[in-house]
Amino acid sequence: NITLSKKNLNIAPSVTLTIDAKTKQMKADGIDVISFGVGEPDFQTPSNIKNAAVEVIKNGSIGYTAASGLPDLKKAICEKLQKENNLSYQPENIIVSNGAKHSLYNIFQAICNPGDEVIIPIPYWVSYPELVKMADATPIFIECNEENEFKLRKEDLLSAITKNTKAIILNSPSNPTGSVYSKEELEEIAKIAIKNDIIIVADEIYEKLVYDGEKHISIASLNNEIKERTIVINGMSKGYAMTGWRIGYTASAVEIAKIMGNIQSHATSNPNTIAQYASIEGLRGDQFSIEEMRKAFDERRSFMVNRINEIKDLSCITPKGAFYVMMNISKWIGKEVKGKKIENSIDFAEMLLDNAKVAIVPGLAFGADNFMRLSYATSLENIKEGLNRIDNYLNI
Ligand code: PLP
Repeated sequence: NITLSKKNLNIAPSVTLTIDAKTKQMKADGIDVISFGVGEPDFQTPSNIKNAAVEVIKNGSIGYTAASGLPDLKKAICEKLQKENNLSYQPENIIVSNGAKHSLYNIFQAICNPGDEVIIPIPYWVSYPELVKMADATPIFIECNEENEFKLRKEDLLSAITKNTKAIILNSPSNPTGSVYSKEELEEIAKIAIKNDIIIVADEIYEKLVYDGEKHISIASLNNEIKERTIVINGMSKGYAMTGWRIGYTASAVEIAKIMGNIQSHATSNPNTIAQYASIEGLRGDQFSIEEMRKAFDERRSFMVNRINEIKDLSCITPKGAFYVMMNISKWIGKEVKGKKIENSIDFAEMLLDNAKVAIVPGLAFGADNFMRLSYATSLENIKEGLNRIDNYLNI
């Protein structure tokens, strides 16, 4: 009868990974499932990046690097932040980690104390609340409505702030909503953060994937005051189709970077050396294939949005970024479908997986039970077939 960690017994397993596992199992059993559950680009890592990794394996030195990342990669990150985000940082501001998820883990460990509150807009990326809890802090949720493109409103933010508010998580472009904050919206949030002495945790991992002429703006680039209290998170996974390489990074004030570097030096040491060299090529090399991927995502997005809005009692707004659509299922909640009552988004997801053989992540995973998240990181063919299956199942 050994007592295990009470704190960590409260950490929920990731619902998105659970659905993914069930889908993979069905596929392994020979069942033809169309998956809208995926959270990673379905493209190959660009060949110049792969070749850079092969070159290091053949001729490079693959020892440990500095625990917080290769100096040359930190330089390449600084160049990128300057050129693309108008942000001026030095290598000492940068910590390279094993994916942006690890960066986020380091952040909350570095900034939180028991009793601290971290504001998380709903719908949120599944890991945020758990990462906050792991750091002994309390997630404070703010509901954001579809009518406001799922974005945080100034008045709601103001009413959630207390003397214990330590940070606000801002994820633009957003997973799961695809929302992109405008400069004006960021300015409002920045003003509130400065006035109330709050840190902004700015997860910009989807920045390369914006559409309809939208431009990604980093909140840290608005002015020096907000830059000082913002921790920018980015990484190679989504924009460079490098999910399995596990490289993410932060840019922050030096005092925060130092703590994160110390934590990482004991927890994991440096992220994979080969992946770090490959990331230098990713950031400095030809960006052509990145734009090709973005265009493919854009075409699928338009198709998916139009098709969803054709299906009876389903709807969605047009997301401006990332590769997800939030499908509104509120008209189906409480209804009976072929003898089964749909109580919530999990029932809806299970019904579609079991009967239509389509995998979708229930909105409950993101705190938004009236919605389902569909990823369009899958072929146009799959998107057509998957949405036809849903349409047929719901309407016959
Ligand atoms: N942040 C958001 C919003 C994400 O969707 C993800 C991945 O799903 C991550 C961070 C973590 O990405 P990685 O750890 O692969 O860099």
